[in-house]
Order: sequence, then structure tokens, then C-alpha cells
Amino acid sequence: QTIPDMLKETVAKFGSREAVAFPLLGISLTYAEFDRHVDELAAGLLALGLEKGDRIGIWSPNNLQWILTQYATARLGLILVNINPAYRLSELEYALNKSGCRALIAADKFKTSDYLKMIRTLAPELENSVPGQLKSAKLPKLETVIGITGDPGDGIFPFARVQKMGAAADLARLDKISKSLSPDDPINIQFTSGTTGAPKGATLTHFNIVNNAAHTVGRMNFTEEDRLCIPVPLYHCFGMVMGSLGCVNTGAAMVFPGEAFDPVDTLQAVAKARCTALYGVPTMFVAMVDHPLLKELDISSLRTGVMAGAPCPIEVMKKVNDRMHMSEVTICYGMTETSPVSFQSNVDDPIEKRVSTVGRIHPHVEVRIVDETGADVPVGQQGELWTKGYSVMRGYWDDEERTKDAIVDGGWMRTGDLAVLDAEGYCQIVGRLKDMIIRGGENIYPREIEEFLFTHPDIQEVQVFGVPDKKFGEEVCTWIVKRDGSPLDEDGVKAYCKDQIAHYKVPRYVRFVSELPMTVTGKPQKFIMRDEMVKILYK
Ligand code: ATP
Ligand code: MG
Repeated sequence: QTIPDMLKETVAKFGSREAVAFPLLGISLTYAEFDRHVDELAAGLLALGLEKGDRIGIWSPNNLQWILTQYATARLGLILVNINPAYRLSELEYALNKSGCRALIAADKFKTSDYLKMIRTLAPELENSVPGQLKSAKLPKLETVIGITGDPGDGIFPFARVQKMGAAADLARLDKISKSLSPDDPINIQFTSGTTGAPKGATLTHFNIVNNAAHTVGRMNFTEEDRLCIPVPLYHCFGMVMGSLGCVNTGAAMVFPGEAFDPVDTLQAVAKARCTALYGVPTMFVAMVDHPLLKELDISSLRTGVMAGAPCPIEVMKKVNDRMHMSEVTICYGMTETSPVSFQSNVDDPIEKRVSTVGRIHPHVEVRIVDETGADVPVGQQGELWTKGYSVMRGYWDDEERTKDAIVDGGWMRTGDLAVLDAEGYCQIVGRLKDMIIRGGENIYPREIEEFLFTHPDIQEVQVFGVPDKKFGEEVCTWIVKRDGSPLDEDGVKAYCKDQIAHYKVPRYVRFVSELPMTVTGKPQKFIMRDEMVKILYK
């Protein structure tokens, strides 16, 4: 099925049910209304001369326009390029030129980002150009810029005007275009989180992501009665595939707390919209499970959800179960390159399995655990996780070399993650291959030390990584965010470890910070911590 076919089917079945809500902004659309807005925007984009296969970028935090853009571009077979809202000039330039975007839809401002100003800096030619006819030295392929809010100024179309242009949408023409699309057409270039370095653009088809969304919400038994709160960014597959497409697939409602994650807004949105499900990365749940608002708000409507993207400390998982009413919460493991989900727990898996593993493989996905030579290791032993099947991306856009590195042996995706499969098929993620610390010949898995340190009551967040060391090759370093007012110091951390974990795993370097460097998707970026530590230690 293509994305437009999926939306039309859901509209036919559930037209009068709520599709999208921003409860804190008073926005609510039924599937029938949503569909009308999507058609309007699609007709407007068509009138701008955009055609099947053209790339169109979106650079914005979460908002209604983002969701409309996702389905309007799919209706025309445009390839949506989701651009990280945290990008700055050089990254934006790279993403637009690399993917060859003819058009860009951009937010106005968000946090410290002034998107339109940044675009005008890159393309000063906008100032004197007719909207839709940009000729820019730095962005040679870009013709059209659309500004999401209000009056974006010279050379830029206001989003509302594009919608108006499509108000008298020629449905027959749109339908003809949608019918010409094949599920195997690329529909998305999704950038990876950038946890280990520069993000990579994964090219995904309708078939990849529609099916993955269906299987993911399927494991949580989603129906049209469900209402999913999505505080994760839409620019990432967690929001746009598992969230948005998952809802449209089942007729469930998507509920957005706001432009980006905030624990108060999220809990309020859940309470106000009576959400039954909630998505988040572990750090988001960390910010919610001890929140005083939990006692004031009624969030008892919650049943299930997904916690994914990074390892979840066991303590957090237990609190999510107990305090947030999410007794059916699932853990997912996946990566942008595989649409994204490969492993997911079942809602009725015993809690021990849900806290210690990422569940079992999704239907129609094959899995191997291999050693450095690419040979399978026996059950119960750890190795690199490889997956294969419908969900594997076409490749990195315009990057054959990295694609060849990532997809090997006739379709196996090398995940770069270390994992163990047990005899029942449950998978435990040990950590990233890249993050493994080798100290004096001993392999050390940061996750194990993180789990241990996390049991300290004064430690709120903790990351462990290796730094270069003359004597041992690498040494263990930890960055810790401690609870407000805690007197915990370096000696305290080391004393806590003593006699509890092997001496070589005890962090040699301990640094307290007020926050950790994170991707927009809420993942701690160890490469930044490592670089900074190297500067501090060996300046
Ligand atoms: P980049 O590839 O740009 O460095 P990234 O790998 O974080 O960033 P994503 O595709 O968003 O980009 O994330 C996929 C990765 O996230 C996986 O390879 C894995 O390391 C990690 N991950 C995802 N889910 C889980 C999970 N449930 N438990 C542990 N790790 C997870
Ligand atoms: Mg990755």
C-alpha cells in the first residue's frame, strides 16, 4: 500500500473520528477534515510545479503544518527530506544540496533557531526574487521556500497561501497522480539521529515505512479507539513513522503536546486528551516518572506506548509501569535505516523480559548475530546484530560507498550494535560496537556500568565512555547529572563502585555536569563528551 492509499482507506472508515489534536493549542481535526487539508496543500504544491520524485525539505519542530506536509507530499509522490530542527547553516546547506531539494518548508523561529534568518543568510538572493523562482549561488537546486507561520517576507511563500492556492483542489487530478505511485517508490529521506557523528540520509519507500508502522502499532493492539501522545520529533522516524503513520494506519488519534518535548506539556496533553498511549526515549520518561504533576493529573487513561531509541535503565521502566499506568508499555529497538523497528516486546511479556530485553523480532524480518568475520555466533553469545527484510532502506541517498558498508551479503543491514539473542528469541542490546571500551585488553560495556551507577539514588542521569590512555589504551570516564542539592562527589562515586564492580570498570574520571549533550531525539552524544574530555585531559 502507498501512504495516500492508506490515508484514504482510513478516512473512508473513520472519517468522523479525531485524527490530529494539539490539546494545549485547542487544535482538533477529524480524519475527514484532515484529509481535506491534505488535499488542499497537495494541490497547492502541485500548482507550484512540484512533481513526483522531486525532493522537498521540511525544517521545523512539531506542528500541524508538519503533519499536513507529510501526507500532502506523499499524495504527489514527492520525496520528503526531513531536516533536523537543530541543524545550523552548514548542515542545512549540506542536506539541501546533497538531496537536491527543489523546495523547502521552514518554520519561523524555535528556541534559539531563527530558521528564516538562517535561510536568508545562505540565500541572500531571496530578498529580490519572485517566490518560487529563487536562483541561489549556494543552494543551486532550491527554487521555492515556504514559510510555515505568518508573513515570511520577500521571496518566500507563506504556507497559508500555498494552501489557498489549492483550495479548489482538482481531486480527479490528485487521484490520478496518487494512483500512479508504487509502494516501492522512495518517499522519504530520513536522517539518522547523529548520535555517533554526522547524520546519514536513509532513503525509504512507502512499502518500508507503511508496513513497519503497521507492525509496530500492531504489537500494541492499536485500534481506532487509541489516542497516542507524540512528544518525540516528527523529523525523526520515531515520530513520523511509528507515531504519525502508525495512527493513520489504524485510525487512532495523534495528540501533540507542542513543538518539542517538555515534561509538563506532555503530562498535561495526556491528561487533557485522555491518551491511551505515549511514546518517548528513556530520558523523556526519566523527566516524567518522578514529576510532582503525576500526583495532580489524572493520566489513568494510559495503557501502552513505546520506549525506544536508547537503552532504558531498569528502574525507569519499572516506574513507567507502576506510576504512569503504562502496564503494557513496549520496548522497541530499531534504526532509521530499517524503517525503523526490528525488535519489540509484546504487551503481555513478563516485566522482567520487558526491562532486560528489547523483545522479539518483528514479522518478516530476519536476524543474525555475527562475529568480526561475519560468521554466526551460537545462541546466547554476543556479537553484532544484522537484520534483513522488507524494512531495510534502499540505501543512503547519493552515497553508494556508505551504503555498501552498511548493507552487505545480499541485503543484511549491519546495525553497529552489539546484541545477544536467547533461546526464546528475546534480544538484549549490549551497546554500540563503537562505544565498547577496550582497557588493557578487557572489553568493557558502558551500559553495564551505567546501569550500576544509575542505582545510586543521587544520580539522575549517567553516561559512560572511553577516553584514550597511554598505559591502558582506553580508560573509563563517566559524566553524571546528579539530583539537585546532592553532595555526591568523585570520591563518593568511586567508593560506591568499590567491591561492587570489577576494579577495571570503576570510572577513572568522573565529571559532574548540569546537562548532557543530546541529539534532538534525546540521545546522549558520547562522541561530543569524549572530545570534550580529551580536551580537558590532554589540552
Ligand atoms: P547515527 O547513526 O546518526 O549515529 P543513531 O544511530 O542514534 O545516530 P537512529 O537511527 O535514530 O540514529 O538510532 C538507531 C540506534 O539507536 C540503534 O542503532 C541503537 O544503537 C539505538 N537504539 C534504538 N533503540 C534502542 C533500544 N531499545 N535500546 C538500546 N539502543 C537502542
Ligand atoms: Mg545509527
